[in-house]
Amino acid sequence: MIGAKKTIAEEGFSIQNQNCIARVSIRIPCLEKAAEQIAEGHWPEAVAESGRSVVAVVCNLAPLELIHASGATPVRLCAGEAGPLPEGVPEPPRQMCPVVKGAAARLGALRRQVGERLVAVVIPGTCDWKARYGDFLGLGDGALVLDVPRDKSSWEARQAWRRQIAALADYLGRRTGAPATRASLLRSIALYQQATALGRRLTEQMKQAPPPMSGSDLMRVFNLFYSLPIEVWIEAAGALLAGIGMDGMDGADKLDKVDGGAGGAKGPRILVVGAPIIWPHWQVPRLIESLGGRIVADALCSSYRGFSDLVSVDETTRTGLLDALADRYLLPCTCPCFGSDEEYLWRVENQTRDFRIEGAVIHRLKSCYLYDLEADRLEGLFRRLGLPCLQIEDDYESPAPAGLATRIEAFLDMVRSRKAGV
Ligand code: SF4
Ligand code: SF4
Repeated sequence: MIGAKKTIAEEGFSIQNQNCIARVSIRIPCLEKAAEQIAEGHWPEAVAESGRSVVAVVCNLAPLELIHASGATPVRLCAGEAGPLPEGVPEPPRQMCPVVKGAAARLGALRRQVGERLVAVVIPGTCDWKARYGDFLGLGDGALVLDVPRDKSSWEARQAWRRQIAALADYLGRRTGAPATRASLLRSIALYQQATALGRRLTEQMKQAPPPMSGSDLMRVFNLFYSLPIEVWIEAAGALLAGIGMDGMDGADKLDKVDGGAGGAKGPRILVVGAPIIWPHWQVPRLIESLGGRIVADALCSSYRGFSDLVSVDETTRTGLLDALADRYLLPCTCPCFGSDEEYLWRVENQTRDFRIEGAVIHRLKSCYLYDLEADRLEGLFRRLGLPCLQIEDDYESPAPAGLATRIEAFLDMVRSRKAGV
């Protein structure tokens, strides 16, 4: 077994209705089961049960539709817990990014569960840790590293990325034996558009006051998108959306009746930004909500960012579809690897307005210099907007330090005082 499951009690805090995906006690068994299996160090059974080849990715820049159209189930390896490394892999450098360390452990678990059906790993080289991931694990031809441009604004960079996606299509075709065709691309793009639309509609619900579910639970649902076959996730997300709106009451009525609202009906509306927060390492969202904050939006690559953009198809030739996918993954991407890209700040500013944010938590990861640089820019943005913010550094490995709850509590008190005009 990879990594022992931590109970909520062991982690030192709890939130109400922990086992329910939504505060209104809607149970989505396949999501709960998948979350539990991941917490135990396994992959959801649904991945093996899909019967398809599996292609793993380590970043949001890898086009999932293309993998799906090549006959494989895409899954994302990035993990919120390190766990034991696959056999034969050397001890990683002490400073290795925890996301990458976790991804190495998740690869071992995936191999154990799907064996030779794992046919490739796609690695966008956004940072040095990721670019060297395949070497570190000795993946050889089983991995393809994509060269990510540092400046995505030029036409040349866009064209170079399109060529890489075309090469990826060829590579995937060789690995799965089922090269993506125009028809399979159209089908897969339509499927992922459906998932994106569902993710956006779920996100929209969080604009309600109070929101109909816990933001921490919604982040978990979004995390699971990367670990489940798309068909399974679509069904589950559809059931969740229907469940939120189908019992004849609006969100506010439901929350008042059930438990006073996610994080308390009057809890401050919180935005979480910065480095990925990946299930099952959930101490930051849990702490925010257990101390009375209401997470209503996030700008994390592990969560909402996967749903914020649609593929825009101009030409339905195979080349046109591959180009559309390349553009969808590169152009709106707000990864801090893209130099001084202003789009991230612009998007975050819009979220603060649309979701009536009252305070922001900036999540940083130990050893991630890219997000360290971004954290200062984000703090500058929140200062300009007059929003209180709190920076938290995490390493995915240690339990929450004793002082973390106190810092979050003090931050939430400050947000409340500001809201009350004290
Ligand atoms: S933050 Fe950057 S490196 Fe991380 S998943 Fe997103 S795009 Fe990839
Ligand atoms: S969290 Fe930072 S250092 Fe780690 S893989 Fe992502 S971009 Fe690289």
